[in-house]
Amino acid sequence: MGRKKDEYVIIVGCGRLGGYLAGMLSGEGKSVVVVDRDPSAFKKLGSDFSGFAVEADATETDTLRNAKIEKADVLVTTTNDDNTNIMIAQIAKQIHGVPKVIARLYELQRQKVYEELGIQTICPTILSAEAFEKIINEDGTEG
Ligand code: AMP
Repeated sequence: MGRKKDEYVIIVGCGRLGGYLAGMLSGEGKSVVVVDRDPSAFKKLGSDFSGFAVEADATETDTLRNAKIEKADVLVTTTNDDNTNIMIAQIAKQIHGVPKVIARLYELQRQKVYEELGIQTICPTILSAEAFEKIINEDGTEG
């Protein structure tokens, strides 16, 4: 599948996951804005990050507007709290009509609720467990 270079992507949460994703997408040539309420979080962005950083709480009314959410093709919310992520995802989808909204999810039981709201989810715990399991079950080269 081709990579869409000219997309405008907002990433909420510049922690370990959000910061890494921001670097990847920026490296692909996308326009990336990262939002985090903790200014020290932006240290995770590499020197090659060419996007913008907005220091603010994403649950506050003006924050997503300041991040120019009306232009966004994609919003990814990667804070460390499921309730925060679902709230931000809902605002992005329902109030601002962002076409693609993806939320980080800790509690897999909540996935159905997100899906009913048209929000895609990524559960890093499950993805990691699957990756571990794949390696565990690989045929070894020894013996
Ligand atoms: P991590 O758990 O390392 O992926 O980090 C999660 C990031 O989300 C941290 O840098 C937090 O400061 C950030 N965060 C949590 N809640 C909010 C919020 N309401 N608005 C903006 N950033 C947030």
